[in-house]
Amino acid sequence: SFNLLASPVKDEVVVKGVILFILDVTEKQSAEKMRREFAANVSHELKTPLTSILGYAELMKSGMVKPEDISEFSDRIYNEARHLIDLIEDVIRISRLDEKNVQLPFEEIDLLELAKETVGRLSSLAQQKRIKLSVGGDNAIIFGVRQILEEMIYNLCDNAIKYNYENGKVDVNVKTFSDQVVLTVADNGFGIPREHQSRVFERFYRIDKSHSRETGGTGLGLSIVKHSAEFHNAKIRLMSKPGKGTTITVIFSREQ
Ligand code: ADP
Repeated sequence: SFNLLASPVKDEVVVKGVILFILDVTEKQSAEKMRREFAANVSHELKTPLTSILGYAELMKSGMVKPEDISEFSDRIYNEARHLIDLIEDVIRISRLDEKNVQLPFEEIDLLELAKETVGRLSSLAQQKRIKLSVGGDNAIIFGVRQILEEMIYNLCDNAIKYNYENGKVDVNVKTFSDQVVLTVADNGFGIPREHQSRVFERFYRIDKSHSRETGGTGLGLSIVKHSAEFHNAKIRLMSKPGKGTTITVIFSREQ
């Protein structure tokens, strides 16, 4: 193992003889540029499922669809509509985080307890793929907004399950240091190729669009994670190796 905190700016670490690239994803981008691009992307992302819903509905209306195909068409309409709702919910989450003056209370939160609750919500998803989910570590108290932290942990664990193999594992850990609290979500899943590592935290960025659509992604999960971390003045580190797994670390400073 290695000590992330001893060398937070170091680019590469050697773990069991393998060189890993640690990426600091919490770099700031121009807020104005991000907002402009976001508005354009949202419109595009909303338009795509709506266009297919319209297309299927028109076909069905025309009476040209064979009765035996009706159920497949309604499934497609249902899935596209479901995707639209996921998108809208994620967009609302992001806008709320963008506003900064979120109308939610800051409070003292036991990060380990919150992680346990959140992981519990994902247990049936994990069971479907026979993935072993574990949560452990220290009862660390941080000052934060419960709902935002919960969304952050949820998105990290959801990805760790979605982009994982059958019988894989996901380990969530909370560790206290003298001036930091570190949350780690580690999986032994697909991993993220190095050329994509600096981009997966961007809004709507997905490595494989078709695959992501299958797994129900919006491409907003990690950007919500990044925003949630920034909202709490926390830093994010990503380590990943294709075919081996991904570890995402969120580092909270204790003197807030
Ligand atoms: P999505 O809604 O597609 O999951 P995210 O913003 O959460 O969007 O993630 C962006 C992309 O990063 C995903 O499409 C996936 O390709 C990749 N990714 C995220 N988390 C992981 C992980 N734990 N393991 C492998 N790939 C991941």
